[in-house]
Amino acid sequence: MMIRFAIIPLLLALNFSMCKRHESAANSSQPATSSPAAGSPAVAPAASPPKITKAVVDQTAQTIIFCYHRLVDKVRYPGTEITPADFEAQMKLLKDSGITVISMQDLLAWKRGEKNIPPRCAVISFDDGWKSQYEVAWPIMKKFGYPFTMFIYTEGVRGGSLGGGEAITWEQLADMRDNGVDIEAHSATHQDLREGHNIMLAAPGGKKTRTKLNGPEYQKWVQNEVVGSKELLEQRLGIKANCFAVPFGNYNEHVKELARNAGFEAMFTVYGQPITYTSPLDSLGRYAIEANKPKVFVDAVKMISTSSGGASAVAEVGAANLSTQPADGEPGRTALPLIKANLSRVGAIEPGSVQMRVSGLGVVPVSYDPKTGTASYQVTQKLRGTSSTVILSAKSEGKKVEAHWTFGIDVGAAAPASAAAKATTTPKK
Ligand SMILES: [Zn+2]
Repeated sequence: MMIRFAIIPLLLALNFSMCKRHESAANSSQPATSSPAAGSPAVAPAASPPKITKAVVDQTAQTIIFCYHRLVDKVRYPGTEITPADFEAQMKLLKDSGITVISMQDLLAWKRGEKNIPPRCAVISFDDGWKSQYEVAWPIMKKFGYPFTMFIYTEGVRGGSLGGGEAITWEQLADMRDNGVDIEAHSATHQDLREGHNIMLAAPGGKKTRTKLNGPEYQKWVQNEVVGSKELLEQRLGIKANCFAVPFGNYNEHVKELARNAGFEAMFTVYGQPITYTSPLDSLGRYAIEANKPKVFVDAVKMISTSSGGASAVAEVGAANLSTQPADGEPGRTALPLIKANLSRVGAIEPGSVQMRVSGLGVVPVSYDPKTGTASYQVTQKLRGTSSTVILSAKSEGKKVEAHWTFGIDVGAAAPASAAAKATTTPKK
């Protein structure tokens, strides 16, 4: 059973710092297991509310992730290039559209339920490691104060078997790292990672051969592409890489499993789509921005500008954060429970806006104590059935917030006659 709570406004209350790197390494959410003494599972303990281990996050927030390649004054390959002027205009458009640019690590922290993000966000990433990303894009990003992520394929860094004169250097990457830029993995040689597909192998001498790999040969190769490249990146730069941008977005379950086992928390494709709280972490789509398709950018911005998250939307949060009583999913209790929830973590509640509905009763005269943030109602009329659902709503900073949770009712207490036996609700005739 789920409890859900809705909140938008509290975004404002929580702070999100943009440039924290790789917080994910710190596994801060220990489950608060208050393990009951072994045995007796039937006895419902005088429930102390579950410990709050996670921040209250806005689960209706959305993020679009952009992917750029080279920045050049004269576009010759519009599929992967953009002029600095166009790029800067796009960064400005984000700002003007009220879209907050957040770091990739903040996006992941939000998806883990550890950190809040604004309702509409964008993440900026640069692929492949071009020096124009260091020389041209970075100063523009600094101007806007935007965080960003670099997806690097290790053989493409200058000096690598595929790193030419336009490639970024390890020194430049180290400089970016030192200034808070997120550096993540994009394989070793940037090829289709699926077994049996055409690839190019570069011999130590630099000679290249086209081939298809299968079986153990493929396994060895793909291991290096996914795991080896991660390790090299981490060793060269002394970082932890938890993101993997799949070259061309070509992968399958096997590659996913390799990446997961290697410790990648998130995998990215180039099939752009708004990222939501529930988007699977192993296929987060990015919008690849191309010079000859400016509409892709504009449409992506429109996509989250117009989708939910607007003024009338209701956001959801895990209601465990509200320390509800009875708790969500709590088994049978009296048919005359005291229903309580703590709204203090939601943010400023507008006086008089708190409303409680109880299934079978409708709107009940809830009392709200602004000092403690506690909304409570003592049920005075026995609840019927085996469970009851509460819907608690309030307004906070102009937005509607709402919680739903369900708890069990002690049928024995509700229906006087039926003592033991599996309390069937059907009365004997
Ligand atoms: Zn790439």
